[in-house]
Amino acid sequence: MDFKPFIRDIQDFPEVGIVFKDITPLLKDAQALNNASNSLYDLINSKKIDKVVGVDSRGFIFAPMLASKLNAGFVPIRKVGKLPYDTISESYDLEYGSDTLEMHNDSILKGEKVLVHDDVLATGGTAKAVCKLVENLGGEVVQCNFLIQLTFLHGASKLKGYDVKALLNY
Ligand code: 5GP
Repeated sequence: MDFKPFIRDIQDFPEVGIVFKDITPLLKDAQALNNASNSLYDLINSKKIDKVVGVDSRGFIFAPMLASKLNAGFVPIRKVGKLPYDTISESYDLEYGSDTLEMHNDSILKGEKVLVHDDVLATGGTAKAVCKLVENLGGEVVQCNFLIQLTFLHGASKLKGYDVKALLNY
């Protein structure tokens, strides 16, 4: 299925000069949603996964669907101050600004195989911080998997050594 017709460009969001890829047209279409979930699952190529880590907030859409298909657990990575239990944190640069991500310190066990999922790979700062969080708890990042990769921002170069996969490349 061609998913690109379901991705909408929003000019100057959330700031002037940014062209934001809006995935909500894909999410609201029953067939596109189901097919995208299946295609993201196919990217994993039968690798064993113990935990799927999803990134606040649009990473929370497909990550639990993938976890369910993989018979794996789901772990949320959240912006600072949102998680209720003890956390570890990592700061990172965004395409626009900078931020800190947190993860519960009991969410991944040493040696667990982890799939990192987010909706979009832009500059790669977010995904790199997520990989560091996973590795700080002793997890092994088996794949970083995205709906969309903005290849012109070269995010994959920040993720050297990781298996980076995306359904759609721009
Ligand atoms: P990065 O750290 O790779 O520069 O930015 C990736 C993060 O910013 C992801 O969590 C993603 O949700 C968000 N992001 C950056 N650009 C876009 C975009 O054009 N569309 C969407 N949906 N998210 C974006």
